[in-house]
Amino acid sequence: MSVSSHKRMIYAVKGGQPIHIDDVERGLACGCFCPACGERLIARKGEKMMHHFAHRSGTECEKGYETSLHLAAKDILLRAGRMILPPASICFPDSPKVVPITDGPIELPIDRVELEQRMDTIIPDVVVFSGEKKLLVEIYVSHKVDDIKQKKIEELHLSAIEIDLSRVERTLSRVELVGILVDGTENKKWISNEYANQLKDQFYKVAEIKPIISRGYAIHVDNCPIKARVWHGIPYANVLDDCSYCKYMVSDNRERILCTGKERIASIDDFNITLPERLKKEAEENRKKFIEKALRSIDMGICPKCGENLIVNPCEDRIIWECTNSRFCDFSAESDPETGEIIIL
Ligand code: SF4
Ligand SMILES: [Zn+2]
Ligand SMILES: [Zn+2]
Repeated sequence: MSVSSHKRMIYAVKGGQPIHIDDVERGLACGCFCPACGERLIARKGEKMMHHFAHRSGTECEKGYETSLHLAAKDILLRAGRMILPPASICFPDSPKVVPITDGPIELPIDRVELEQRMDTIIPDVVVFSGEKKLLVEIYVSHKVDDIKQKKIEELHLSAIEIDLSRVERTLSRVELVGILVDGTENKKWISNEYANQLKDQFYKVAEIKPIISRGYAIHVDNCPIKARVWHGIPYANVLDDCSYCKYMVSDNRERILCTGKERIASIDDFNITLPERLKKEAEENRKKFIEKALRSIDMGICPKCGENLIVNPCEDRIIWECTNSRFCDFSAESDPETGEIIIL
């Protein structure tokens, strides 16, 4: 099999240990073997081409490059004793909702690294051990982790990241590889984060199942806990206009939604406070949003409650705004006589 230049092996095995092309003698004297097929390797360290290992027979084996990268990852991560992981968040399938669970990238101390260790029905490329924790590291060279493997990892309650080396430059040096594997986060992505998976289950546990009902061209759910809309005294929500943007929607499979609105659970912190505290928090957030909207509306001379025009009454020491629709709408605001700040009444 011929290999393109970006698939040249830069790691091999010598005396049972992984070794980089820079650290061996030229030619057969390198004393190295292919980590996949075990054939003797020649260290090609000429002037023109990137230094690399080639099989003595001249025929490259299929797994050599990939296995050498697994080996490189093991060696580099073990030597570094740490790796930076990308920020983690809870992603809800069938919902745009994303809940961050870290403020940014996380540093994982590393105690031990194992290669291709079978775990039930899966064989991860690399396993990193950190205290009681273990993290599967999948090196993406030619095949991404597919949905089936991802599901198995989740079912085994394991955490895994994928490191994308499929598009790395053909002249990738050891320093660059160290940068990608240890400190970089750009090429890393979470395949499964067990802590996030457990938290996601907590959201699902408190969620209500709300069947989606077609009404003409609109799709609704009834008994919206936050009363997104009310018709003849019955609260409901428009799935596309309300639920899709709602912080309480954790799933929409077109037949039903899962809504955490009844319990007012929108964030991880909400699990740590009582329902009355969550209701108070929501009321404060709503009041803040209403004031922001009201200030913009007053600027345009429009009532933020009903959309009718506002009347501006300049008094001695303040300005008063009232709705022209005062028979049905009670909105009014006035400026503070001392600061001039607009107070929504
Ligand atoms: S997701 Fe939001 S808008 Fe939709 S029913 Fe639940 S609380 Fe109401
Ligand atoms: Zn080989
Ligand atoms: Zn009004």
